[in-house]
Amino acid sequence: MKISKHFNSDLKNCKLCNSDNISRHGIVNGIVRYRCNHCGKTFNVLTNTSLANLRKKEKWSKYCECLRSGISIRKAAEICGIHRNTALRWRHRFLAALKNTEPKSLSGKIEEDECFFHKSEKGNKNLNRLARKRAVADKTSLTESEKIYLFVNKDEKDKVYNIIADCADKIDFIKLSEIFDKNCNYIVRSGISFLEDLKKMTNYNSLFHTVCSNNQKMNKATFHCIKLKSWMLRFNGVATKYLENYTSWFSNLNNLTYLNGEEILISKFLRFD
Ligand SMILES: [Zn+2]
Repeated sequence: MKISKHFNSDLKNCKLCNSDNISRHGIVNGIVRYRCNHCGKTFNVLTNTSLANLRKKEKWSKYCECLRSGISIRKAAEICGIHRNTALRWRHRFLAALKNTEPKSLSGKIEEDECFFHKSEKGNKNLNRLARKRAVADKTSLTESEKIYLFVNKDEKDKVYNIIADCADKIDFIKLSEIFDKNCNYIVRSGISFLEDLKKMTNYNSLFHTVCSNNQKMNKATFHCIKLKSWMLRFNGVATKYLENYTSWFSNLNNLTYLNGEEILISKFLRFD
């Protein structure tokens, strides 16, 4: 498989102003560069994507294998022969790109559940408080203001739509309802008030839905939350601003299992349609 052709798919419009008055303008680092005759800027197929301006493209497919196995920054740096800081930058950028591949719709039987994480300003150099030496050991003792919630929606085809919010009141229910297929069967574990809010703020009434009681057997979303929480332990706490990248990484792991690095790179990161 020739990866370079994926870096060089034919562009018809300017990536900055959308004008179709563009022309090829040389090749830089193996990628065709274009120039827009309308806004005068140059761009390539990666411009305005999460992978713009990253170097060492020949190592990206190797890095995708590291993403698939969820290994540490240090190990990924070793395997790819890159600096730790580069591996860290790549993780953030690749995960941001992966986030954009999340499904736009869920259908059939959709199950919902929630879990929470410790709010974290990890990596923030301008803290308003003293830095913590260690993450809080006993997460059950967190107050509401220290929690950040993840609402997992998983359909029967295992497509996952995650929502991160301080609490259920802060959920964008309109956006949530827009991803549902009209005839879906929505099973909620987060309680009756979650459904009431959803109905109040949207025209959700037409959908079939139920609230799952605690003694009903565990659903897909519940398993997802449990597995995610244990998978996340390896990172020793994730900054809240990156939490959605990590949760979508986890949602994607099943899709990556049977692909090699090159296939992951092409199917997940070099699709520009
Ligand atoms: Zn332009």
